[in-house]
Amino acid sequence: MGSAHITLHDKKFRLYLPANELVGVVEELAARLNRDYTDRKPLFVVVLTGAFMFASDLLKRITVPCEIVFIRVASYHGTGSTGVVQEIMGLREEVAGRHLIVVEDIVDTGTTMHHLLPTLRAKGPASVEVATLFFKPDCLRHELTLAYVAKQIPNDFVVGYGLDYDGLGRNLPDVYVAV
Ligand code: 5GP
Repeated sequence: MGSAHITLHDKKFRLYLPANELVGVVEELAARLNRDYTDRKPLFVVVLTGAFMFASDLLKRITVPCEIVFIRVASYHGTGSTGVVQEIMGLREEVAGRHLIVVEDIVDTGTTMHHLLPTLRAKGPASVEVATLFFKPDCLRHELTLAYVAKQIPNDFVVGYGLDYDGLGRNLPDVYVAV
């Protein structure tokens, strides 16, 4: 286990979820996915960069046949009706007719998913669900259905296990919360 307190840049953090507790919540989520996706050969769509460590631990525990793709999303304000245009980079696989599972590090306001999900649905998949490590229900500002949440957390800023604070902290095996 890492230290009880760390400093990244100018900010202090305290240990929040040690690696052994993270393994437990990731295992539970993987078990649910294995039950729900038997015979559906899902395509996991991992959103980089923050989800890389979670995705690695989760996907090692997926026992049903599946495929994995890594994407990046870039949002920019366009002149369309939504005001925000979402570009997906790295999705070269054919997704029409496939069962997609978007793997995300954290859903906060839900803005990222609010824009990403319609863009994915427009490509004609058979289904699209979200599997997120963390969900902050108090921050949600959009209508979203999150079928697979590993852990709900309060409205606090967390780092570690893939999540960064201004570039630092992604490599930490434990999750820390800002104090
Ligand atoms: P949303 O679009 O749901 O507001 O936010 C999603 C993104 O915001 C996440 O993918 C993540 O990059 C960032 N984010 C939201 N909350 C946190 C947090 O507590 N810690 C870190 N490191 N990033 C966060």
